[in-house]
Amino acid sequence: MLMGERIKVLTIGGIPIHVHTSWLLVYALITWTLAVGYFPRALPDMPALGHWVSGLVAALLLFLSVLAHELAHSLVATAHGLRVRGITLHVFGGVSEMQDEPPDPRAEFLIAIVGPLASFAIAGVLWAALAAGIVPGGAPRAIVLYLLTVNVVVGVFNLVPGFPLDGGRVLRAALWRWTGALGRATAIASQVGRAFAIALMAVGVVQIVYGELLGGVWMILLGLFLKSAADASAAQVALRDALGQVPVQAAMARDVVTVPATATVAELVRDFWSHHFTSFPVVDGRGVVGVVTVHQVPQVPEEARAERRVEGLMTPLAEALVVGPRDSLLQALEKSTRNGLGRLAVLDDGRLVGYLSVKDIVHVLTLRGFDGARAAGAVPVRPPVRRAA
Ligand SMILES: [Zn+2]
Repeated sequence: MLMGERIKVLTIGGIPIHVHTSWLLVYALITWTLAVGYFPRALPDMPALGHWVSGLVAALLLFLSVLAHELAHSLVATAHGLRVRGITLHVFGGVSEMQDEPPDPRAEFLIAIVGPLASFAIAGVLWAALAAGIVPGGAPRAIVLYLLTVNVVVGVFNLVPGFPLDGGRVLRAALWRWTGALGRATAIASQVGRAFAIALMAVGVVQIVYGELLGGVWMILLGLFLKSAADASAAQVALRDALGQVPVQAAMARDVVTVPATATVAELVRDFWSHHFTSFPVVDGRGVVGVVTVHQVPQVPEEARAERRVEGLMTPLAEALVVGPRDSLLQALEKSTRNGLGRLAVLDDGRLVGYLSVKDIVHVLTLRGFDGARAAGAVPVRPPVRRAA
């Protein structure tokens, strides 16, 4: 959905702030609609250049308002011990990328609600400034009125109770508290989110039929974005439900074929053929020292394979390659997708007791009723916990 690159613009409170290139497009679009629509209506006596400058300023302040909304989420999340990877502003607003799920319904509620509250607080301050008469007339007043309105709209839109909008997170927190089951709460809140997304798309179609092409296309894109976010969140939690309680030892291979670190690469190639495995743990006198896969073999030219040793080719054992037999398959999945090999050595007290590949985990998912495409779609990446707008 989001194409292109993102640029880091600044860091606030240890949280990196990125601007997605798609946001630059929307910045131009908002400036343009303001400069040819809103400001000429609000300030008919002002020359066109003034409308464009006001448009640029208002769009920039809108950007800062969305940033304040996201910062509120991120700061409350960090206060609850969650790791925040950063904030990205993009074409549909912003997302705070959190690496973990909130620990309890209360934290979820607070992290979610503070975003709309921040938007309403900005609107409230602007309203008070207008009421106190401290905003000069002309362009400043028109800009403040615009910002007041969009902050109310951002706050209200995000309170729609469809996951992953803030309102959907509030709903999820309530259901989570009520049922005690995060998975079930997420499933219901995502369902409402999907329904809302589809409703937005339907409104978009009606707008197009009535000749509002730009607004209609925008609604449809926003609906698609929200629907894919709701689907991704639901899949992620379903994955957590399916794998979170299953220990590694239930899925690992126990008859592990190992390769000595001193074996030559030529011998390793023969092992690949005779066992039909695509990777092996590498051992020496002390135990497991690494993992070697068939994909690493081409790094050694054919003529050198009789002399070069496996220890020079393998990926040395590191924390990312090891899992315990009683760790959950979810932890194993996260590790094995991150370590670039898709394999894990299962060690109990430093002793090799099993071997696990992403394929083994996908088999467990298939047995638990995840269809292949859904399992494969959910497996390769662990999407950051995102919030839309
Ligand atoms: Zn929000």
